[in-house]
Amino acid sequence: MSRIAFIGLGNMGAPMARNLLKAGHDLAVFDLSPAALQSVTEAGGKAAADAAMAVADADIVISMLPASRHVEGLYLGEAGLLAHIPDKALVIDCSTIAPASARTVAQAAAARGLQMIDAPVSGGTAGASAGTLTFIVGGAAATLERARPVLEAMGKNIFHVGGNGAGQVAKLCNNMALGVIMAVTGEALALGVAHGLDPGVLSQMMAVSTGRSWATEVCNPWPGVLENAPSTRGYSGGFGNDLMLKDLGLAAEAAMGVGASIPLGELARNLYALNSRAGNGGLDFSSIVKLLSETD
Ligand code: NAD
Repeated sequence: MSRIAFIGLGNMGAPMARNLLKAGHDLAVFDLSPAALQSVTEAGGKAAADAAMAVADADIVISMLPASRHVEGLYLGEAGLLAHIPDKALVIDCSTIAPASARTVAQAAAARGLQMIDAPVSGGTAGASAGTLTFIVGGAAATLERARPVLEAMGKNIFHVGGNGAGQVAKLCNNMALGVIMAVTGEALALGVAHGLDPGVLSQMMAVSTGRSWATEVCNPWPGVLENAPSTRGYSGGFGNDLMLKDLGLAAEAAMGVGASIPLGELARNLYALNSRAGNGGLDFSSIVKLLSETD
């Protein structure tokens, strides 16, 4: 069993950390939010006073933070965490961030003699709780093999897609598709409901028809259709609208970098920006349906 430092215990990090505890690992945990920290110390994680204390004895460091600036802020600079991580420890960043940012941090880790992979995830909070996440890994194959037993305690699919930063590129491709699919699913349900259809029956039909997707079956945007979907609990506890907005912005940057055309991705980015401006930035991204209907 490994001594793991886990930093960032939000909607995703907390259930991931709890699965590592269940698998018998020894966890030192840190989050800026006391409430987030408590949600894992209650399950057996040892609270550290700060990130540097969390990594003091670690064999493996895992971070799960919102965006590039948080990850760069954590690891880099004179006071950065890389200076405190023990020699030979393995670093795994599971946050979704800019590919260039992932490469910058991995290079700084390598300069310190530390091996690092980017391992962003897919599967949502339900997948994080169930331990069924998909890990999308960028970095050296040998480093992934070191990480594999720990990743397997949190997920069931592991894809090695290339060198450092490649995990982030693949993750952005997935989330761009997800952002578009969620928006159009909300649009379709709103159209049906405006014609007097029952959103539950419409969703059940779509879930076994060609319009099926994760958005109809797992994270249905219409409140009350699925008992465990964020929409049914006031769009709380899922994947924040502003995190989807961040990912679509990263996809747009990535597209510009290679001259790719992503018309639907750009349109979706604008829709999630409008949803944020409507005051829904902190809600689950399926709240995009609120722009298209009167769901509450
Ligand atoms: P979240 O906002 O719920 O959690 C982030 C946590 O990081 C917060 O508890 C915050 O206090 C903490 N934090 C921020 N800066 C910190 C620092 N310097 N030190 C310690 N803690 C710090 O976010 P989330 O939903 O858990 O998402 C985390 C990452 O996973 C994001 O990059 C997101 O895009 C990605 N992701 C989320 C989902 C999802 O369904 N929520 C799915 C896949 C990927």
